[in-house]
Amino acid sequence: MCGIVGYTGEKLGVPIVLDCLKRLEYRGYDSAGVAYLDCGNLFVKKQVGKLENLNTYLKNKIIPSSCALGHTRWATHGEPNKTNAHPHIDNDNILALVHNGIIENFVNLKNDLLKKDFYFNTETDTEVIAVLLGAELQNFIKNEQNSAQNCVHNTLHSTCNFTKKQVLRVLQKVVSLLDGAYALAIVVKGLDDCIFFAKNKSPLILGKGCGQNFLASDSSAILPYTNEIYSVKDGEFGCIQKEKITIFDADFNSVKPHFETLQIKLEQIMLGDYAHFMHKEIEQGASSVVDSLNRLKGVWANKLPINIFEGDFNLHITACGTALHAGRIAKYLIENQLKIPVQLDYASEFRYKKPLINNKVFVCF
Ligand code: GLU
Repeated sequence: MCGIVGYTGEKLGVPIVLDCLKRLEYRGYDSAGVAYLDCGNLFVKKQVGKLENLNTYLKNKIIPSSCALGHTRWATHGEPNKTNAHPHIDNDNILALVHNGIIENFVNLKNDLLKKDFYFNTETDTEVIAVLLGAELQNFIKNEQNSAQNCVHNTLHSTCNFTKKQVLRVLQKVVSLLDGAYALAIVVKGLDDCIFFAKNKSPLILGKGCGQNFLASDSSAILPYTNEIYSVKDGEFGCIQKEKITIFDADFNSVKPHFETLQIKLEQIMLGDYAHFMHKEIEQGASSVVDSLNRLKGVWANKLPINIFEGDFNLHITACGTALHAGRIAKYLIENQLKIPVQLDYASEFRYKKPLINNKVFVCF
């Protein structure tokens, strides 16, 4: 689980991205990084450890960019060091990319690219997407130029300028080759107000502002700036610009997004008077359970194949870290008090297990 943020608008982008990342640190604190565009150039800055380290490194630097993206990492592939920190770049330094998720077929994709003489600097699955996208962009342009017969058939240089439409075409192709979960945000050299995105199975929202637009892993990141939110659907991809949001489905049909106005207040998601978020969560435990059950009753109850309010089911709890410990206590209490059988699993391993799930099993993530 990583956190991603993107900003494009009229203001300085990097301070806004760093501020938004603060509210995503719960999603990962192995490293933090930003990429930004300025006068046709692409820059990447990253530091290992908490966001604070990146903040200190960038302190007092005025970065005159109004298009930036950022990342906090929870490492899944490759140790948590500076090299493996996002953003990742392609072999020609034409793009920078941040990713939340896991690419299951990254070894095959990487081997194919290695055979074609592309190289890799990191141990991450994510770098494969960056290198593949860079390679496919160069290919696309070469093919366009060949068919227009207006250019020598040489390898293109990294000064090459791409159009938004070309990048979107190539992005559609590249994501169709990925097997796994991803929320991606990408900046491309020369396209100074564009942030490209794509989503499958990892969370991604877009935020609409006035003369500025955002993307993020969750709405809490951008709530101080806008509460007009669109949740990107699996398979969708597109581009945010300061005055425009473009979205396509997997077949390149244009999508008209319906932006929702979130009613949640910033205070509700901030630390407030608590010393730590864990303390806040513990204190709010009881009311969160009541809220969740009310939501279940109101929205989902009639749609569920089992009656969760009559205990006619087995329960699977999947969680990681502290939540797994909480799950152990829940198993003990639920089995003892409610006589409902509970199975507990590591969330990160669950999808590899082929679990025995039928319509009498309720899975709690
Ligand atoms: N797989 C990527 C990495 O290890 C992203 C991790 C994540 O989203 O948790 O860098």
